[in-house]
Order: sequence, then structure tokens, then C-alpha cells
Amino acid sequence: MQINRNLKIKTLLALLILALIIQLANPSALASLSQNRLDLTFTVSMDKPHTHYYHVNLEIVGQTSEYLDLKLPNWTPGYYRIMDYARHVINFRAKEAGGRSLAWLKIAKNVWRIRTGRAKNISIDYDVYAFNVSVAESFLDDRRAFIVPASLFMYPEGYLQNPVKLKIIPNDLLPQIFCGLDEIPGENNTFYASDFDILYDCPIYVGLPEVISFEVLGVPHRIVAEDLGQIPRHKIIEDFKKIIETSVGIIGELPYRHYTFILLDGGGGGLEHLNSMAAYMNASGLQTPGGYKNWLAFIAHEYFHHYNVKRIRPQVLGPFDYDRENYTRMLWVSEGITVYYEYLILKRAGLLTEEEFLDRLSRTIASYENIPGSKVQSATESSFDTWIRFFARNEETTNISISYYDKGAILGLLLDLKIRHETQNKKSLDDVLRVLYEKYYKKLKRGWTDEEFRSECEAIAGCSLAEIFDEYAATVKEIDYPKYVAYAGLEIDTSWHELPGVDLGLTTQTQEGNLFIGSVLRGSPAQEAGLSARDEILAIDGKRVNPRNFDWILTAYKPGQKARFLISRRNRIQEIEVTFAARKERTFRLKPAPHPGQLEATIFRDWLSQK
Ligand SMILES: [Zn+2]
Repeated sequence: MQINRNLKIKTLLALLILALIIQLANPSALASLSQNRLDLTFTVSMDKPHTHYYHVNLEIVGQTSEYLDLKLPNWTPGYYRIMDYARHVINFRAKEAGGRSLAWLKIAKNVWRIRTGRAKNISIDYDVYAFNVSVAESFLDDRRAFIVPASLFMYPEGYLQNPVKLKIIPNDLLPQIFCGLDEIPGENNTFYASDFDILYDCPIYVGLPEVISFEVLGVPHRIVAEDLGQIPRHKIIEDFKKIIETSVGIIGELPYRHYTFILLDGGGGGLEHLNSMAAYMNASGLQTPGGYKNWLAFIAHEYFHHYNVKRIRPQVLGPFDYDRENYTRMLWVSEGITVYYEYLILKRAGLLTEEEFLDRLSRTIASYENIPGSKVQSATESSFDTWIRFFARNEETTNISISYYDKGAILGLLLDLKIRHETQNKKSLDDVLRVLYEKYYKKLKRGWTDEEFRSECEAIAGCSLAEIFDEYAATVKEIDYPKYVAYAGLEIDTSWHELPGVDLGLTTQTQEGNLFIGSVLRGSPAQEAGLSARDEILAIDGKRVNPRNFDWILTAYKPGQKARFLISRRNRIQEIEVTFAARKERTFRLKPAPHPGQLEATIFRDWLSQK
């Protein structure tokens, strides 16, 4: 009897829960979602930083609907990868003002549906685990709180345009807060974002960093750094100022009221924002002049992005859809042309010599041309597929993919020199960027379409740019470098040079002291012979091979000679005969032609100097 009675209650309860689930999961229940403005206040605390959990509270005032969906973005702009930030969320709770708990149900991996019962004021709490070293992921320990807002702050569905208040509670270990958001006057540690796009665009640093402040054109800039090593601070300020001033010289104005460089120690990668950047670095790498210049190039790249990609942008890159991939065929413009300007800015700022500038261009061309992927994937395809290819590198990547950073920089060079040539050096790619900035960002307040980007380039060039757009950007057609670089009075070495030694066309890797093939280039002697990635190389012509003697053993052979490779492939031993080829490379070295024409000499001079 007791059992029966219990069963009945359980059945009744189960039916009630089922009804609730059906109601919560029914999308039409949200049809009446009103678009009134909400008061949204986030409070973030980090009381036990060594556990790596942030606590987030969200107070919602003024909501009127029966159900409310809270969503956490699945990615963060600038980092074109589905991150699934929701995987780090635990302890989700919802209650109304009186303290009564509200029922909720997850209806998608990143969506929490709350049955509000039209409660006007709602309080949400949850914890977020944060312990990954990446510019696209939040991190927390007792010396650093680095918040990637898209990974921490949920937005009510339909309210991305709603203003947001953010209160951060520091503690003794993590006392100072830095970010690109404006602080609300009179309210301690409290910041304001005009909408969620702005909130998600402002990474937050809390800790005890070194802070270096300076002004450019009357606008405050600050470097918030964990470890800048031994580089004299006045030199860093001087060089950063040169980068900023040169960038402003290209576009014409500084569009922000303050800028924050967040420089994190011990990692790689950087992410651009409207008035800040977050960049990992290693101070030990700045000790050599080359290392320091590479770092400045990296800073110039992330910095120039506040124009190119944040403000001068393809239409799909803002406002964003945070649920899914935002596809564009134009990352070769947003990333590649930024690489091209990173070189130009450093040269025009006097931070690279003419030779170093040309060398960077040559190396970019060589890095693109010397991989089999350049015969397979176009710049537009590479841009579009970045979501599934860029972070999914494997042994086949160089055979099937290119870098839109490299190819885009090359296309930027071609566009710039072609425009200068066609306009008798009156116009350049700088003019294209300025027009895009003035017309689309400032006047129309939107991004441009692929067609608009091309037509603005052609309007400024005064001619068709079909070869660059239809062939070099959209296909893998071989680029006529000599024709384009001649516009600036340059010559380029596209010939093959034979190098000492023999070529196999493979990379190796060591696993537990044994030598394995890491990758095999398409069409290489290794592939022709039948070798494959993941083969373990045991012996060559009867000589036992290990990771230390492999290169030395190869020095005994000449191009055209054969050798018997004893390999283990998935635990089967077999012998494969390989014919060595000659080692060859193309350097694409750029150098000034001995007798440039007058126009070409003028183009070269103006191209490399700040107007
Ligand atoms: Zn970039």
C-alpha cells in the first residue's frame, strides 16, 4: 500500500515534471518575448582563485515574459573557432526577487530556459571554470584573472542590444582591474557597456601588473604587462608611439577615447578589439634585436586590427551571431592585409630597414609558394573554411591548406602596387582603407559586402582588378610576381636554387625515442616511393636509424641515388625503395632593379614612407 501510494505520487510528479519540460522546451512559448529594455547587472567575484572558478551573478530587472532564455556565446569574435564556452559552466541557479527558486531547463548546449512566471526581477548565479592559457579563453589563478567576456557573461535572448553594467570584485591577491570598458563615475570597480557586442569586445585583466601610461595625439594609452623583461621602458613607449602614429597616419584619425594593451606572460597568440588588445608574449624572446622586432610586428598587427577587421570589416563580422560560425570569404583582407600593413607600418615608422621590409615580404611569398596547399586551396576558400581547418591542423594540412595570412599579405601587395601603377602613384591601398573607413564604418555604420570591397578597390584604381580578385584571390592560379613588383621598380627571384644534400619531402617526429614520419608532402620523393605519415623508420640500407643519426645518415647519399627504407607501418615491417631528389628552393628574394623608371622609383619611395 505504501509502495503503491508512493508510486502514484511518483507517477504524478513525473507527469508534472514532464509537462514542465514540454512547456519549457516548446519554442513557441517564447513567441511573446517582449523587447522592452532590461536593467542588467553582472557581478563577478573570484574568492578562491586557486580553484579557477569565477562566480557570476546576473541581476535582471524589468523583464515581463513568461520564459527567459539565457545564452552563452559559442565563440568570441576574432577567434574563428567554436569554443563551446558553456562546457565550463556549473551550479546554474535562478530565483525571483523574493528568493523563490525558478524552474529552468537547458534546451541547447548554450541555452538555459527559465520559467519566470512573469517575475519582474530575477537573479541568476553560476560558476565558470577558467584555467586555459589562450587569448580566447578565461583564466584564473592567484596571480592572474583574465576574463574573455564571451566565455563568462550570458545574454538574454533578444537583448544583445541592451546596455550592461558590470561590477568586478577584486581581492587582496587580485587587486587592480584593467579593460577597455568605461568605468561608471562614482561607482567603484563598475563598468558600462552600451550593448553585449561591446561587452564581449573588452577582455578584462585583474591582478598586479606593471602599468605604463602615455598619450598619443592627446589620447591616453596604457600598457598593462605581466613581464616586459629588460627592455628599457622609454624605448617600448617610443616604439609603441611610432606604431600608433604611423597607423593613424594611414587612416586619418584615432577613433577611440582610450586604449589598453593587455600583455600576458608565457604563451602565444593575440586578439584584437576596438580599443584594446590581449596578447601573450615571452619576455625572454625580446632579448635579441630580431626577437624584439618580431614582437613589435606582432603588436603592430593586433593594433592595426582596431581599424582593419574591427571597424573596416566584412559585413558578417559585426554585429555577430554568437551561436554559430560566421562565414566570410574575406579573411584574406581582414587578416592578410593586416599582415601586409604590419610590415608597412614598421618600415614607415623607421622600425625596419628597407632590406628587412623586403625580406619579410619575400619570406611571406616563399612560405605560401613552398607548400603543396598553394596548388589546392584559394584565399577565399581558406577564409571560408577557417572554422574547420585553421585549428584542426594534422599531418595533411600543408598538402591541402594555405594560410590566408600569407596569401592575403601577397594579395595586399599586388593590390597596392597595381593601384599605384594605374593611378601614376596618386592613389594606393591606403586610400582604399580610408574610403572603407569613412564610407562604411562612419557613414553607413556597417561592414561591406565582398562586391563592395572589390568595387571600392576598382573605383580607386580606375580599372578592372579581375586578375587579382577572380584569379589570384578566388583560384590557385600562379601569380605573375615579376609584373607586379616591377611597378615599384623591384625584381624578384622566382628561379629554383639547388641546395646541398638530398630531398625526401617529409618531416619527422620522435615518439619514445623512435623516429616516425610526421608528414609527407604531396608529389615528394617520399610519397612517390610509398612512404606515409606515421611510418616508423627503422633502418636505411641496413643501418639502424634513430632520431639523432637520421640527418647524418642521409648525408651519405646524392640526388638520384636509391636507398632501402625499413619501416614499421601499424606494426607490420616492410621495405620501401626510395629515390632521393635534389634539394631545391625558391627564395622569391626582392631587390631594387638597377635602373627603375621615374614612376617606379617614385612609387617605391612613397610606398615605404609616411605621407
Ligand atoms: Zn590578426
